[in-house]
Amino acid sequence: MTLTTSPFASASEDDDHFQEECAVYGIFGSIDAAAHTALGLHALQHRGQEATGIVSADGKKFHQHRGLGHVGKNFGEENKSILDGLRGYAAIGHNRYATTGETALRNVQPLYADLEFGGFAICHNGNLTNALQLRRELVHNGSIFQSTTDTETILQLIARSRHRTVTDKLIDAMKQVDGAFALVCLTEESVIGMRDPYGVRPLVIGRIGDAYILTSETVALDIIGAEFIRDVEPGEMVVIDTKGLHSFFPFHKAPKRFCIFEYIYFARPDSTVEGHSVYAARKAIGAELAKESPVEADVIIPVPDSGVPSAIGYAAAAKTPFELGIIRNHYVGRTFIQPTDHVRHLGVKLKHNANPSAIAGKRVVLVDDSIVRGTTSTKIVEMVRQAGAKEVHMRIASPPTTHSCFYGVDTPERDKLLASRMTVEEMGKLIGVDSLAFISIDGLYRAMGEAGRSEDAPQYCDACFTGQYPIELSDWEDGTTNNQLSLLAAAS
Ligand code: AMP
Repeated sequence: MTLTTSPFASASEDDDHFQEECAVYGIFGSIDAAAHTALGLHALQHRGQEATGIVSADGKKFHQHRGLGHVGKNFGEENKSILDGLRGYAAIGHNRYATTGETALRNVQPLYADLEFGGFAICHNGNLTNALQLRRELVHNGSIFQSTTDTETILQLIARSRHRTVTDKLIDAMKQVDGAFALVCLTEESVIGMRDPYGVRPLVIGRIGDAYILTSETVALDIIGAEFIRDVEPGEMVVIDTKGLHSFFPFHKAPKRFCIFEYIYFARPDSTVEGHSVYAARKAIGAELAKESPVEADVIIPVPDSGVPSAIGYAAAAKTPFELGIIRNHYVGRTFIQPTDHVRHLGVKLKHNANPSAIAGKRVVLVDDSIVRGTTSTKIVEMVRQAGAKEVHMRIASPPTTHSCFYGVDTPERDKLLASRMTVEEMGKLIGVDSLAFISIDGLYRAMGEAGRSEDAPQYCDACFTGQYPIELSDWEDGTTNNQLSLLAAAS
């Protein structure tokens, strides 16, 4: 992810604390390595739409392409020559999701460096929480940074490590960082995957023929007909080379804290993450929500697409008809990634339209996955009222988002989170609904098959709802995160 933007790079609202969610992919042992990677990244487009890149290795040389925009734009039919040029039996790739405003190519992954032992490329999903501190020390000691990403800090630490082998250097580097990481790296003769000890971000292992795959979600395996083998364990490093797959546990053991927001919003519903179908989890959350916050209504309407599975679960549990009362235009990107509030407003209108035939004269329950700034909900409610709804109730399939994520999900600074400055009642008034309710934190855990949230040792990372951050936030503790990282203005 991007640490912070350079002072000249973007509008002030996007200056700091914007995080990004990303997708990673790696394959070893296929003559179609780069093509498989492009397809995998295409399946993971929802995790990052700003930029994409692939680096491949043919045993002698590395080949790379990075570009802004979607996977199809960079690696599609019109750019077949690009894909053809990415030769080799091993490749890694990345989709970047950034709302920092800085779209500079220098931040697009995989990052590549010629190191003591040879070429090395790295992709990262997550966010390091002491990268700025480490970066300051590294710069002080003479390191030169090319990008403003925390991922480059890892590269620099590897380069400076006194350990002998590439895996020992990587372990040495990763023992110095705090935060969330799912990494996929490429060397001349291996693909290496690694997950932080808390397992905040997902990483799965798949197989097709003799080739092994490491990637963020199982949908990236499905797309090429690869078989899902297992999740990479929290704190595990897997090395894939010509001898097969080798597993190591180089870190101290930590309590598992997988990000619960992956189930609520981020992962694709057709993925299976950490043993749970994302679709089934969302339906169960909707059912639990219906139990907790019932309301007399004629129709249950999802806010598409993210609210659909939970609305199905809600409608079934409430024994109320499910209708498509809002239609989404699929040719507009996720509204959340528009860089300014003004554009975001426009985006919401472009993206959704009310369907009066399902709404007029009815008592409507709208179901959505989350409320962040409240922009989407306000517009949707207005639209539904204009389409003739008699009553509009809103049910949210997550607890109120009161805290920013520092581990890799894109949430704005705290003061922009509606729930951090308003009660549920105040939010309901602002959004313009007859009633508003969120699932409780225990209800969310129950939907995930737990008895409830364990206060002492929560089973997931739920910091965005509770403010309990499992991993130290060193970079944010000394209040100096706005220190400039680079004077180079972003160029896209
Ligand atoms: P807002 O208008 O800011 O309240 O946006 C809320 C909507 O954005 C939710 O309904 C989600 O579908 C979507 N959303 C929630 N979290 C994220 C995120 N981290 N990145 C992108 N979109 C999100």
